[in-house]
Amino acid sequence: IGMQVAIDGPASAGKSTVAKLIAQKLGFTYIDTGAMYRACTFLARSHGLDYGDEAGILALVEQTGIELRNIAGQQHVLVGTRDISHEIRKPEISAKVSQVAALSGVRQKMVSLQRQMAGKVDVVMDGRDIGTTVLPDAQVKIFLVASARSRAQRRMLDLEEQGIKTTKTVAEIEADIAARDYKDSHRAISPLKKAVDAVEIDTTSMTIAEVVNKILRQIKK
Ligand code: C5P
Repeated sequence: IGMQVAIDGPASAGKSTVAKLIAQKLGFTYIDTGAMYRACTFLARSHGLDYGDEAGILALVEQTGIELRNIAGQQHVLVGTRDISHEIRKPEISAKVSQVAALSGVRQKMVSLQRQMAGKVDVVMDGRDIGTTVLPDAQVKIFLVASARSRAQRRMLDLEEQGIKTTKTVAEIEADIAARDYKDSHRAISPLKKAVDAVEIDTTSMTIAEVVNKILRQIKK
């Protein structure tokens, strides 16, 4: 296997931002596993399926396929030929994704795709269960955390940057994030959890560059 860097943690702790930068710096492949669960949720929603309809969702995944594709240095998410990179960030997907991600068949399928994608190349993979389940032998495991308020503020800025409108206050976004973290931490199968051998980094009062450098030092150890 290649070099595997697993980055886990709760919502909006900065995982994808730093994972992308590290992958760029080291020439590793970046794999955003959250985007895959979001794509499953998008498929359910766009076909009017119940978010608990495991068989229906799996059939759609088989039919259309979910692909992470690097286009001009940016990661895009495709279902079939449709680029849904923007749609999957919308609050209506965020609100339902934990329900879809709790389905055991969906997780089995995604984990197998993720391992296949990692294959033998060098990867930075971010998610909730990478260090514990997807890549248990990863050489570097990071668990990113940050205060609830700062995560809500970051999420608000992300939405703004992506041109996604919300009328919610920071406090309401904080409540949404807390609800999603609760569901992700309490599901039966591979819940959000720090791997025993992961290094925890609290990013609340750190800059992005500081977090990136701290992780790069772990990789070079
Ligand atoms: O990372 P992101 O916020 O895009 O993840 C969206 C959701 O996908 C999470 O809230 C969680 O329910 C699910 N997820 C997961 N396992 C992963 C990555 C994401 O269950 N490895």
